[in-house]
Amino acid sequence: MIGPLTRAVIINEHGGPEELHLITAEVGDPGPGEIRIRHEAVGLNFIDVYQRSGLYPMKLPARLGMEGAGIIEAVGANVSHLKPGDRAAYAAQPPGACCDARVMPAAQVCPLPDAISFEDGAAMMLKGLTVNYLFRRTTPLQRGDTVLFHAAAGGVGLIACQWARSEGITLIGTAGSDAKCALALEHGARHAINYRTEDFTARVRELTDGKGVDVVMDSIGKDTFEGSLDCLKPLGMMISFGNASGPVAPVNLGVLAAKGSLKLTRPSLFTHIADHATCQQMAAELFAKVVAGDITIRIDQRFPLFKVAEAHRALEARQTTGATILEP
Ligand code: NDP
Repeated sequence: MIGPLTRAVIINEHGGPEELHLITAEVGDPGPGEIRIRHEAVGLNFIDVYQRSGLYPMKLPARLGMEGAGIIEAVGANVSHLKPGDRAAYAAQPPGACCDARVMPAAQVCPLPDAISFEDGAAMMLKGLTVNYLFRRTTPLQRGDTVLFHAAAGGVGLIACQWARSEGITLIGTAGSDAKCALALEHGARHAINYRTEDFTARVRELTDGKGVDVVMDSIGKDTFEGSLDCLKPLGMMISFGNASGPVAPVNLGVLAAKGSLKLTRPSLFTHIADHATCQQMAAELFAKVVAGDITIRIDQRFPLFKVAEAHRALEARQTTGATILEP
């Protein structure tokens, strides 16, 4: 007998948005350590673009999507933190969130508080847990520290602006238009720089009385890496966590010494949430900030699942702000 069916987004080849296809497949039943979830909403992330394009190579054919929220339909053996009927949300490997329903490992799936909508859940897990590890787990950050955050009006960016405000950290944001800068300021950035029209390095020096910032959080990569290093104080920390403009060129480590004994790291969310208990704790911290009203999840784009290619095009063309949701 055939079980429940799902639509799922797959790629057979790496390439542009035209490589995204919708297939119909059987969902299956969860094995030990797994759950079956039926999505109410799916989050779109820039990692979906890297995986589709081949910047992050995948074994093909491959399913896409790293973030979703919905209702647990079934749980396998050895799963104690979720049961059928629970509301849940996740950011997790393996890719495959762009679908109606799926079977997946349970460890990174988190019970979603009733006060948080499925859409917000799907929009905030990958982006919000990233902000959590950037601010709490990558380098010690204290009230009064100053951070430069690129793409501050994006999905991760608007959460970062609010997180910084809630912790008394001064965030200088960059964004690609004056309207995006206004949005970043509205969400808690202390200053915003339109890096398409202004030299962001010179402006950061000006804003910090020539001192530079304690930490740079750079997800743009190729276009901003060098300028970002020039924004740091001596002993400052460069967190390079993405490549929206392309990968960073190989780095001559001597440059870090010459620019003031800088530190450099290239983290991934999936290392930080690999441990079940840590992941659940990080999610609880994020949920607490949302429920307390310190962070509002802003969803500025919604696309039906079958228009996933349109959603990718908008994200890559820098046309989006805040989070983007795919509707199953
Ligand atoms: P965003 O909503 O921030 O979209 C990306 C933004 O990058 C664009 O809107 C644009 O903003 C900016 N950008 C600058 N140059 C380019 C370019 N050449 N092409 C496209 N966009 C460009 O995406 P997400 O919130 O999903 O992710 C933000 C970044 O964080 C991504 O780079 C992602 O890979 C990274 N990330 C890394 C994680 C990790 O653990 N390492 C986890 C989660 C996200 P503007 O117009 O304002 O410049």
